[in-house]
Amino acid sequence: MIVAGAGALGLSAALALADAGCSVSVWDPTEGSNASAVAAGMLAPVFEAALDAETTGDLDLLLAARNLWPGLAARAGVEVDRSGTAAVGSEAWLAEVRARLTRLGLRGADLPRAMLDDLAPGIAPDLQALLVREDWRLEPGPALRALRQAARAAGVEFRAEAARGRGQADWLVIATGAGPGLIDVAPELRRLTPIKGQILRFSDVRGGRVSLRGEGAYAVPGSGGLAVGATMEPGLDDARIDPVALQPLVRAAGRLFPALEGATFAAAAGVRAATPDGLPMAGPSAAPGIILAVGARRNGWLLAPLVAQVVTACVTGRDPGPYAPRLDPARFETSRIGGRAR
Ligand SMILES: Cc1cc2nc3c(=O)[nH]c(=O)nc-3n(C[C@H](O)[C@H](O)[C@H](O)COP(=O)(O)OP(=O)(O)OC[C@H]3O[C@@H](n4cnc5c(N)ncnc54)[C@H](O)[C@@H]3O)c2cc1C
Repeated sequence: MIVAGAGALGLSAALALADAGCSVSVWDPTEGSNASAVAAGMLAPVFEAALDAETTGDLDLLLAARNLWPGLAARAGVEVDRSGTAAVGSEAWLAEVRARLTRLGLRGADLPRAMLDDLAPGIAPDLQALLVREDWRLEPGPALRALRQAARAAGVEFRAEAARGRGQADWLVIATGAGPGLIDVAPELRRLTPIKGQILRFSDVRGGRVSLRGEGAYAVPGSGGLAVGATMEPGLDDARIDPVALQPLVRAAGRLFPALEGATFAAAAGVRAATPDGLPMAGPSAAPGIILAVGARRNGWLLAPLVAQVVTACVTGRDPGPYAPRLDPARFETSRIGGRAR
């Protein structure tokens, strides 16, 4: 079978399929310059549900995906940092965050100032924080390399070519992110819209021990420096750096860490693919032999193991689990009752 696309979704699916005994070939013309490589790497079910209206109703599914990460991390040798994530902001904003968490049946721990200084050295003195242990992170570059290596060791072949169709393969798994090339192969891909995301990296700043969610930006520490992101630019599908769109992020970075005002950074951009309801399409296409693994919007890393599980179940005939109906590509078809289009 062919897996088209070597991002987080394609590589996770390829590894799971190989582990299920399938003979897998991953096709991708470009290595490492995709949304997965640009991402911040947060595995953040709680703050995504709390802060992003699009996924507020999906906390259970996001947590289920997160819960699959320890297994995938152990299998592929991906390091997952479980130190947690702190919402950081003014008292009024934190009260709002607290209320949202409460509505979701969750709560964070108020961080004493000394502990905040310890976890995030250099954080602005007027900010307060609320720590959530449920939101983790990984480093996208090393994680992509680890997944690729594990897949290769499991027998997966790699081809530096664009897939144009199923050809002679028994199955084609489409994990092409926002790539538009295969719309004629799988009509469901027309449902995807691009959302450009730009992110800053301050390579001289390590950024402390936990990820931070602030007003207008998040800040994620990593070996490559502190990542501050990200813009959400619906409708744009280019990866050009736009200095004007970056300005709010630059200002938000300075509000979180005053030392970042005027600091040097590198910017990167990627394109997320989004469905009408914010959840991916994972499962069979209406076209025979085609399986979709696309549309993970701003949570592709978080959702990758769940998407891989559903994709693998399509091929093996095993139970795809309780979340498969919410990811079914057919849910947007108007004839289907019970869809959740919004
Ligand atoms: C700035 C930014 C920050 C983000 N932060 C996070 C985060 O913290 N946590 C999180 O969970 N998610 C985050 N995301 C979202 C996440 O990056 C995406 O949801 C995820 O990377 C999508 O993975 P993918 O495999 O579907 O697509 P991609 O990573 O885009 O990979 C698709 C691959 O398909 C290949 N391709 C395209 N067409 C073809 C073809 N015809 N044949 C073969 N190959 C093809 C492309 O070359 C590409 O390599 C972020 C995104 C951005 C842009």
